[in-house]
Amino acid sequence: MYLIDVLVEHNLRKVDRNFWYVSKEEVSKGCRVLITFHKQDFVGFVTSVKEISEEEKSKLEEKNKFEILEIKGIVENKPIITEELFELSEILSKRYFYPRIGVLQTMLPPSLKPLSSYTNKPKIRYKKYYVLKSKNFDNLTKLELKTLQKFTIFEKIEFSDVSKSKSLASLIDKGIIEIVEEEVERYKVEKIFNYHDNFVLSDVQKEALNKILNSEKRVQVLHGVTGSGKTEIYIKVIEDVLNKGKNALILVPEIALTPLMISRIASYFDEEIAVLHSSLSPALKYDEYRKIKDGKAKIVIGTRSAIFAPLENIGIIIIDEEHSSTYKQEDDLCYNALEVAQIRAKNHDCKLILGSATPSIETMAKAKSGLYELVTIDVRFDNAELPNTIIVDRSKFENFSYKSSIFSTKLIKEIKDRIEKNEQVILFVNNKGYARSFSCRECGHTFKCPTCGLPLVYHKVDNKLKCHHCDYEITKPDKCPICGSKYLAYNGFGIEKVEEEFSKLFNVPFLSLDGERTPKTLQISTILSKFAKKEANILIGTSMISKGHDFDDVTLVGIINADSLLTYPSYKANENTFNLITQTIGRAGRKSKKGMAVIQTSFVDNPSIKYAVSNDYESFYNYEIKNRKSLGFPPFRNIIRFQFRSMDIDKISKISDEIISFFSYFKLDIKIFEFSKIFKNGRMFIKNLHINYKKIEEISTILEVLNDYFKKLVGIKIIINFNPYDN
Ligand code: ADP
Ligand code: ZN
Ligand code: ZN
Repeated sequence: MYLIDVLVEHNLRKVDRNFWYVSKEEVSKGCRVLITFHKQDFVGFVTSVKEISEEEKSKLEEKNKFEILEIKGIVENKPIITEELFELSEILSKRYFYPRIGVLQTMLPPSLKPLSSYTNKPKIRYKKYYVLKSKNFDNLTKLELKTLQKFTIFEKIEFSDVSKSKSLASLIDKGIIEIVEEEVERYKVEKIFNYHDNFVLSDVQKEALNKILNSEKRVQVLHGVTGSGKTEIYIKVIEDVLNKGKNALILVPEIALTPLMISRIASYFDEEIAVLHSSLSPALKYDEYRKIKDGKAKIVIGTRSAIFAPLENIGIIIIDEEHSSTYKQEDDLCYNALEVAQIRAKNHDCKLILGSATPSIETMAKAKSGLYELVTIDVRFDNAELPNTIIVDRSKFENFSYKSSIFSTKLIKEIKDRIEKNEQVILFVNNKGYARSFSCRECGHTFKCPTCGLPLVYHKVDNKLKCHHCDYEITKPDKCPICGSKYLAYNGFGIEKVEEEFSKLFNVPFLSLDGERTPKTLQISTILSKFAKKEANILIGTSMISKGHDFDDVTLVGIINADSLLTYPSYKANENTFNLITQTIGRAGRKSKKGMAVIQTSFVDNPSIKYAVSNDYESFYNYEIKNRKSLGFPPFRNIIRFQFRSMDIDKISKISDEIISFFSYFKLDIKIFEFSKIFKNGRMFIKNLHINYKKIEEISTILEVLNDYFKKLVGIKIIINFNPYDN
């Protein structure tokens, strides 16, 4: 019999340890088993197996004073995870203070998650075939021979293509025909994008490639301006790796950008490619996962969670647009895919490329210190010029006319010009909704969220005022609740208002893309392909439009209001502003046509805006690194965020106070930020507490003690997040 260590499917700190079970049948580590736990049926995950005798089992039971239960069944007898990922799950569990079973649940696709609900998730789909097994046609009847006619051309025919008959049945009986089942692959990478498959690198690109290939360092920062051909360099690196018999893992920042990367990679390589991202159906995820695990895929492309692809023999990991906040998960297991990538690159002794036109401050600091290799390309491919940039001061009255307070006279003129020339325009608006806030003109009362106190945003589509942080919303009132006045007014504007004003001014069709109203990948790619086909020449959108897309005919980019980015409550606010503006400007004039960008802002001297407009990454970096140093933010110091979620607000206050006094007791070099804001989602209250510290070693013992203490708490969820990107 076998003594096995099992993790129970509950993703709770309380049960984050192994439990003993026995199995009569042989079972291996890395498989799921069916168990009873506190008299209920659950799924468990086997972490180790040891053969023991009946006596040894009895001794153990006697010594520990409990009965070791037998498992109720084995779900699969082949491990569902690679040895590397199995070990990684333990490392991540410790690093992020997250239950190990939860890490495994995050890593595995739905059909393989150690969860009871797995049973109704899709399994392998098979197709049945009739296959000709023997050519010994002696002693067959006429009818049987006739049935066999089909098989003289094809020796394998799909089940549904042969009508069932007596003669068919007897042929099967006689062993002439056999029924076989074959697995169906549900996903096929399509080579939609007809990409030049035989390109040659420019001299500058070659130099960059050689530097990467010859570097002794693990991490390569590829800092290349927009349009410098970073993808071409990735392709050549991948080629080198495949030639050495190894595999490649590529991450892209968001689902909408995967088709683009896939088609560019797929049209160059004949090797099998697997795709992993969150909008694939569970069935597809399962297929892709197995394709990778069975060693059939040489290249894997996907979003954040693809970093957990069970790819073996990895020769390169590439993270495109490495500065993107999407690589950081901000809920449950708050992992940073860049950190996980470093661990995996070390496991496989391979290089990690972090590519971006605007590397994050943390990444660049490491590159400048010599820890990472820095590879810079500062010209666009074919010497295509970067767009001319024009700043419009929104605070200056003379820049606007009576026609519009959103579109400056300059921007209107340029848009009209492009419409006449049949060229394309991208307009970037950062804010969702219609108006930023809603208030009373008589008494000045501003409508605010009753829980968190932030101004409510007006959404015209459904005529509602909504809190963008809580789930609070009300139908737009027609009277002021304070003074009863009917004079209520909007302040500021969001994408809905911009669209409305655009229609009034230009009266031409436009496409729009924002995360809220176009949430489905399919819709996103439909809109983008409509724009690419020039079904409309104007695209209005939120940050989704700032990345990666390459439209040859876009000669004008307008940033309607650059200011709103700065108010984002995060140590990354400046960096995000700089990145978004740089990336958005980079969408203009990608090929032979010279582009232009018009940036409207009230803060023309703000360094994040100013340096983005002059395409001056160096100056921005020097400015921001000083900021980070003086404010004590990454990469100099770090933040740990405890997020409390509970229906009982007193529980939140209590644990928050306890953590503060616990940390204070040790007189460490830390700063504590307690946020008074409380958000509300359904009946759940949410509150954040930040600790600013220098080195993890200085607080790790405290964190371990706290984590143990958290195991005892009920009715409250505590999410631990290191250096959150979102506030
Ligand atoms: P980045 O990712 O750095 O913004 P891309 O890889 O998208 O740049 O390249 C910009 C454009 O230049 C693309 O249209 C790409 O096809 C083209 N390009 C870049 N390098 C080459 C090359 N060596 N040969 C042909 N076309 C290239
Ligand atoms: Zn009022
Ligand atoms: Zn709120």
